[in-house]
Amino acid sequence: MSKPVLNRRQLLLAATAAGLMPAFPAYTREKARVIVIGGGMAGATLAKYLRKWGPNLQVTLIDRNARYTSCIMSSLVLSGQRDLASLQYDYTALVQKYGVKIRTDEVVAVDPVARSVTLGSGKVLRAERIVLAPGIEFDPVPGLTDPDAMPHAWKAGPQTTLLRQQLLAMQPGGTVVLTIPKVPYRCPPGPYERACLLADWLAKKKPGSKLLVLDANADFVTEKDNFSSAFFDLHGDVIEYRTSTEVLSADAATMTLQTSTGAVQGQVINLIPRQRCGSIVASAGLANATEGRFAGVNVLNYESTAAAGIHVIGDSSATTQPKAGHIANQEAKVCADAIVRAFAGEQPDPAPVTNSACFSTITMTKASWLHAGFQYNPATGQMAGVPTASGASIGWNADNFEQMNDWFRALMADTFA
Ligand SMILES: Cc1cc2nc3c(=O)[nH]c(=O)nc-3n(C[C@H](O)[C@H](O)[C@H](O)COP(=O)(O)OP(=O)(O)OC[C@H]3O[C@@H](n4cnc5c(N)ncnc54)[C@H](O)[C@@H]3O)c2cc1C
Repeated sequence: MSKPVLNRRQLLLAATAAGLMPAFPAYTREKARVIVIGGGMAGATLAKYLRKWGPNLQVTLIDRNARYTSCIMSSLVLSGQRDLASLQYDYTALVQKYGVKIRTDEVVAVDPVARSVTLGSGKVLRAERIVLAPGIEFDPVPGLTDPDAMPHAWKAGPQTTLLRQQLLAMQPGGTVVLTIPKVPYRCPPGPYERACLLADWLAKKKPGSKLLVLDANADFVTEKDNFSSAFFDLHGDVIEYRTSTEVLSADAATMTLQTSTGAVQGQVINLIPRQRCGSIVASAGLANATEGRFAGVNVLNYESTAAAGIHVIGDSSATTQPKAGHIANQEAKVCADAIVRAFAGEQPDPAPVTNSACFSTITMTKASWLHAGFQYNPATGQMAGVPTASGASIGWNADNFEQMNDWFRALMADTFA
């Protein structure tokens, strides 16, 4: 997203210095503080761009991990085409190039009124603005006492490696089950592309195996043309697709799922539960949208509709945009711009635009793509899809697979480098 803000800010600064404009409010000069919770796709982008566009701001980024592991591309770990190390990013550039302060700690409480953040270490930090970007949490699955028995691998990390090991250990001719939760969930095309990739891998490495895909939704939730021809034609010998099938409970001892359409068993079960905002968003009282699952925000600045001065970006927020890393990066830039303007006593950009691109692995070497543009609709107060800036590829090919790698490198560089 191109941002004319820097030039405009430089002009404003020049005008102020020349006495043509009132000076910025005192807190801009005195290093107003912003705390960012979560150093993933949304939080890392926000911290970087706050410092780029607001060099006077004191920005502290807190994450429980010293390194971020990207979910994007992580299904390729399951097929053995990537390892987790190739998906890990640290915060060195944010510190050294942009002057972001990093704290590796768990945030255990946020007080939106006092604008304070309590860390697991016991330290309490205060700021003029707090931005929450903690991603998602999963609903518990009745009966599943050990989540590792049926890994979601929907937060990249140890469960991704575990699911890979379980797939490798399965005998040929076995059944793998993959469950898709009700919308809204993280990465709408993600489970379908994982299914296609696994179907190709199973056909090559575990001949005679089946992939049973249980979708809690009534149909493919996105890119229907490509996924339906991949599921029913290309991978028709491997994939069995059941719609409107919700997981009710799980029994790891017998590797059985009770679902709304009957019981199923598998040798490996990739159980992706229903999702909600990060628990720190809920415990701060900000989960006031999507039946209490996600945080309502004003999409002009991503300020919570429940608390002034507190913002929520990325997968934890409830907007009309998909829960995706590319969109998280875009939301972060809109939010950063709005916060810098707010400290200068200005209103947010009244017409923000965001966009998202996504590549889906249809086989281990071929991909399709999807892109979507959004613009602010003042009548609804929401981001509305722009049909002329949205679309999908017709089919899939090896060139798209290459472009997927280029797109990923560029997105991660914009976020972490
Ligand atoms: C398999 C898969 C494939 C995907 N593919 C794509 C794709 O192709 N394109 C795309 O755009 N998106 C894709 N996504 C979606 C994308 O990964 C997410 O939408 C994106 O990561 C959301 O960014 P976020 O910043 O909201 O959350 P995250 O990136 O998850 O970051 C949240 C951060 O907050 C930290 N955190 C949480 N709570 C606390 C706390 N209390 N204290 C301290 N730290 C905390 C976490 O450690 C984490 O680092 C995919 C997702 C999956 C699972």
